[in-house]
This record gives sequence, structure tokens and C-alpha cells, in this order.
Amino acid sequence: MFSKLKKVLLHSGYQVILTRNISKHEPKAIACGVKGYILPDNLKIFINKSFGVNDRVITLIHELLHEIHPSKSEYQIDKLSNKIFNDLNVSQLGFLQFFVMTPIEIHSMLKSNQLAY
Ligand SMILES: [Zn+2]
Repeated sequence: MFSKLKKVLLHSGYQVILTRNISKHEPKAIACGVKGYILPDNLKIFINKSFGVNDRVITLIHELLHEIHPSKSEYQIDKLSNKIFNDLNVSQLGFLQFFVMTPIEIHSMLKSNQLAY
């Protein structure tokens, strides 16, 4: 399942946008609560950056699943995204975290790992 998510993320042309204005009315958005939404017509996924990084990863998985399974219900998507998140290994988690972190967060993470100069 992760490889399918990765493929969609890298090859579908979707842009992941971190925002704090998730409540802003978007008529064409698939409503997913306050954590994020997807605009399939515009190839955009919005993620609420007010939440922690792992919450954002679950949201990213959730929105990508809407693209992969357009007919699944919000409840089914939620269940599946939690299952996929729990099954991620460390490198898969790191891969997805990279898409939902701000440049400043990435920099401070690298710095704390002594990988940045
Ligand atoms: Zn949703």
C-alpha cells in the first residue's frame, strides 16, 4: 500500500501545501475536517500545519487515499489511513514527513541530527 501512495505522491503532479487556513471555504474540496483537504481538479493537497508532524503525515495519507479510492467513504478512508500509518517503517515515515514539514522544521531536524552546517 505504501508503494502506491509513494507513486501517487511522486507522479500524479499533486502539490502539497502547508497552510493554517483550512477552514477557508473551498467549494470543490472534499471535506476532511480541520486537518486537510484535497482539490483533485487543481491537483492540490492542503495540510493544516497547526497540527504536529505525524498528524500531518496521517492527513497526507488520508488525502492521497481519496485520490486512489474516490468512492470510499470518509470513515473508510480514516480507518485505512490510520492502518497504513501504523504499518510504516522508519524510512517510509521519514519520506512522508519530508512532504509535510516546513523548510524551517526540516532545517532544525537536520541540525539536531548534526547533518546540517
Ligand atoms: Zn477525507
